[in-house]
Amino acid sequence: MTKYNAVTSEVVEELKKIVGEKYVYTDQDKLEPYSHDEVTDPHYVKAPEVAVLPANAEEVAQIVKLANRSSIPLVPRGAGTGLACAAVPFKGGIVVALERMNKILEIDIENMIMVTEPGVTTEEVQKAANDKGFLYAGDPCSGDSSFIGGNIATNAGGNKAVKYGVTRNQVAGLEIVTPTGEIITLGGKLKKDASGYSLMNLVIGSEGTLGFVTKIYLKLVALPKVTMDLLAIFKDLESAIGLAPKLMGAGISPVCVEFMDNASIQCVESFLREKLPHSNDGYYIIVQIAGDNEELLEDQCVLIDEMATENGAVEVLVADPAVIWKARKAYAEADRARSLVFSMEDIVVPVTKIPEAVKYIADLSQKYNVAIHCCGHAGDGNIHANILKDKYSEKEWDEILPAVQAEIYSKVYSMGGKLSGEHGIGFKRVQALAKYANPIEIEMMKAVKAALDPNLIMNPGKVINVE
Ligand SMILES: Cc1cc2nc3c(=O)[nH]c(=O)nc-3n(C[C@H](O)[C@H](O)[C@H](O)COP(=O)(O)OP(=O)(O)OC[C@H]3O[C@@H](n4cnc5c(N)ncnc54)[C@H](O)[C@@H]3O)c2cc1C
Repeated sequence: MTKYNAVTSEVVEELKKIVGEKYVYTDQDKLEPYSHDEVTDPHYVKAPEVAVLPANAEEVAQIVKLANRSSIPLVPRGAGTGLACAAVPFKGGIVVALERMNKILEIDIENMIMVTEPGVTTEEVQKAANDKGFLYAGDPCSGDSSFIGGNIATNAGGNKAVKYGVTRNQVAGLEIVTPTGEIITLGGKLKKDASGYSLMNLVIGSEGTLGFVTKIYLKLVALPKVTMDLLAIFKDLESAIGLAPKLMGAGISPVCVEFMDNASIQCVESFLREKLPHSNDGYYIIVQIAGDNEELLEDQCVLIDEMATENGAVEVLVADPAVIWKARKAYAEADRARSLVFSMEDIVVPVTKIPEAVKYIADLSQKYNVAIHCCGHAGDGNIHANILKDKYSEKEWDEILPAVQAEIYSKVYSMGGKLSGEHGIGFKRVQALAKYANPIEIEMMKAVKAALDPNLIMNPGKVINVE
């Protein structure tokens, strides 16, 4: 097992020389915000020994070299909105917070590329693109607070992945600081790159285990002129979720196809204190379509309406986007307000298997007498299932949760699915990945990690355990 050293006062002094005294935190109250992400279970809290806030890639590189010399773990941190405890320093060491690297550096209109530092929020990236008539298509529900660097590191998905793909599909290049402290650019302002292994794609989604992302070249696309949101309401789970694969096969290329079960709708309604349609017994499918030709979109709306009605919808509404997306995006917060401790599962299955997966989870909720609220990106097979602790004791929860998770994961893998569609493995799912993934795949991941990070200082204990 790798032995790491504690952060000494000498190391703290060296850190102060690199980033300036003001940007090195050692007081417990200043370290607290870096001791957790959005997972509120107290099992997943650990304060760093020290947190540093570098201003640029050169400072990051010096910190990395210092950590290699001293054998101290480094944990990159974006906005801390993660849901897999990937930014929590369970092995102690230094949290390197990228929040000061928060500038959009360039919008290159002709190359359709935005160059940005990692600490810019996703929403700022989206707005800056819109201001120039472009769309940045990455759109996680946490976009108002998550950082673009965190989105790269987790390969964030989100609402528009159905049409535009996940964060990986929005990236043309990355500047990284390698685990040994070199600064290198992978990719760039390029539409294509077939020049050897795609190391850029290896770093995307590596959850801070293969280096720091310090600059990002993002692809921009033309901003569609017209957007329409529809809400199809059903009275039963199977009819609602059964619409998703049918829509995907209808040749209309929706931007979003989202699902909310009735328990989620009721929980959101009471959290927001805003009346939602058919909240007493409805199940929602939210569809967004976009393009430049309004007439064509109206035809598509008619088609969606017909398909939904044929599938049993009791009502299909043209939705007020402000209302419906606010409700959809409040899902996690609403569950947290009801039960501070809950586990958000993030399974992904082939689109055609979504009805079977959601039904299976609903049955588990009955079997274990535990609330499971399902919501998610139905158009890409990614279902979030929040398992709520509610009033169960710690002891009961420690028995129920692993049992429910084991049943969900076994089922998902039997359907050709995976543990995480977008939130990542982080710390929370390391053991499950080791159990359910192909052992050869795990060995390949370990070989990559050991080759690129010989002293195993980058975010140890996350994704895979290499000892
Ligand atoms: C309400 C809510 C809704 C959400 N909705 C979505 C959604 O729709 N889709 C989705 O995919 N996720 C979603 N998430 C999860 C989360 O917002 C994403 O995983 C997001 O990409 C994390 O970004 P962050 O800046 O907060 O990263 P953090 O949580 O700070 O870090 C996440 C991981 O990235 C690493 N990291 C961060 N920055 C860097 C960097 N510059 N270089 C190297 N490694 C780095 C960290 O070490 C850690 O491993 C949601 C979360 C919440 C709370």
